[in-house]
Amino acid sequence: MTANILDGKAIAAELRQTIKVKVAERVASGERAPGLAVVLVGQDPASEVYVRNKRRSCEEVGFYSESHDLSADASQESLLALIDTLNAKDEIDGILVQLPLPDHIDEEAVIERILPTKDVDGFHPYNVGRLTLKMPILRPCTPKGVMTMLKKTGQKLEGMDAVIIGQSNIVGRPMAMELLAERCTITICHSRTKDLEQKVRNADVVVAAVGRANFVPGEWIKKGAIVIDVGINRLDTGKLAGDVDFEGCKENASWITPVPGGVGPMTIATLLENTLQAAELHSEVAE
Ligand code: NAP
Repeated sequence: MTANILDGKAIAAELRQTIKVKVAERVASGERAPGLAVVLVGQDPASEVYVRNKRRSCEEVGFYSESHDLSADASQESLLALIDTLNAKDEIDGILVQLPLPDHIDEEAVIERILPTKDVDGFHPYNVGRLTLKMPILRPCTPKGVMTMLKKTGQKLEGMDAVIIGQSNIVGRPMAMELLAERCTITICHSRTKDLEQKVRNADVVVAAVGRANFVPGEWIKKGAIVIDVGINRLDTGKLAGDVDFEGCKENASWITPVPGGVGPMTIATLLENTLQAAELHSEVAE
């Protein structure tokens, strides 16, 4: 068996095109374009690449976008003051503060300062709580993008055993809530999990979000399982690798996401989707 490839690049391009059309319709009907503010603190090279891609994607779909680059020694107070300004600004529907932040800044305080209706990353406790209670509004981008990809397989997720490796706030935990909402039976694994191999061997869906290249070997994958690789790891060769051994897993899986070109592009397209959703919500409130 060789797996079907879940082509995140193509699915993301389709999603961006849909968003672009909706933005054009919105603007044609006299409404303003959705607005996204992207805030970067410091010069982390990986963050700079992500931020550049996010800003470019905004332009492509016709959003209004603002860039705010703060120096690595910017104070927490100045960042919180900037968020207050953006919270109050009508042209801005979404505020994205690129993580990780420098050590002297409290990430939770920053996330909580963003208005929940402008929290297009879906990281605010309000939005996480709503997702957990099966009444989501703005959903974390990476897990939401994974769900868009899973829908493309045409497989019925209900009743499937899903194993998520990783329990971070931005990927593992919200991923579990998304899959639970689809009535999967979920197992969340982490660095203290006993007998991870056996858990993965029993899974119908495996989501790897560990941050270790080729962590999941092909022989762990049950025949016909769906494999979602969230990991982005830079190898010594300069190439990118995921958290699963792609070639090995491909032999057993029914569907698999590549790295690069899998979950990564979906995360950015989903950020745009969330920003459009936030703009629509703001328009409804203004009516
Ligand atoms: P993270 O916060 O570092 O979390 C990693 C998780 O892996 C933790 O829960 C950790 O367990 C678990 N883990 C570590 N070693 C393990 C082991 N030996 N066995 C089982 N679990 C283990 O990372 P993250 O932010 O969720 O990101 C994970 C990966 O996804 C990274 O490569 C990141 O670059 C990538 N990522 C990609 C996207 C995208 O758009 N494609 C978005 C976000 C992140 P403990 O909790 O016990 O420490």
